[in-house]
Amino acid sequence: MELCFATNNTHKLTEIQALLGQEFQLRTLRDIGCDEDIPETHDTIAANSREKAELIWEQYRVNAFADDTGLEVYALGGEPGVYSARYAGPQRNADDNMQLLWERLADKPDRRARFITIITLVLDGRYHQFEGMVEGTIIQEKRGTHGFGYDPIFVPEGHNRTFAEMSLSEKSKLSHRARAFARLAEFLKIQKEG
Ligand code: IMP
Repeated sequence: MELCFATNNTHKLTEIQALLGQEFQLRTLRDIGCDEDIPETHDTIAANSREKAELIWEQYRVNAFADDTGLEVYALGGEPGVYSARYAGPQRNADDNMQLLWERLADKPDRRARFITIITLVLDGRYHQFEGMVEGTIIQEKRGTHGFGYDPIFVPEGHNRTFAEMSLSEKSKLSHRARAFARLAEFLKIQKEG
């Protein structure tokens, strides 16, 4: 089965291809001739994820899936959420984003947060969504050098190291994204067998 993954990030594509197995041939946006930067115009992760899958189906009539992720901090009412990438501004800088998060949390003792990934799959015009989540805590200093985004300040529940202190394979066993993609893979394998 051929599927477009709404990304041009070949690293992400390789990872997901390994998870899905060879019975699924993944195509990037470029592979299907889509050169546009798909906008994220909504204020929820679910809607932004759907927007990307919808654009591919509506404009290219290709089966596809798209993911969208956000960090939700409980004491901040779910901020930065859908604005995680550009929390501190359009420069999309991870250090600026972490700094702003610390500032907003300065007088808040509750440091609980969670990452959420929502994948939207469109198969022959029908939409399906899959969610992956990991609960954790925001810490007050940066630890570790792996990963990206908020990884240096996020300690997943049940662990005492940040995501940035874990190897990619370790993070992949418990991350929000890995959990959402595992659900997608499970669903697709059932479709394939049925
Ligand atoms: P995206 O939807 O995967 O592009 O993620 C949006 C933003 O959420 C990223 O720019 C990061 O700031 C943050 N983010 C997503 N996934 C992770 C992660 O695994 N670790 C740390 N930050 C992440």
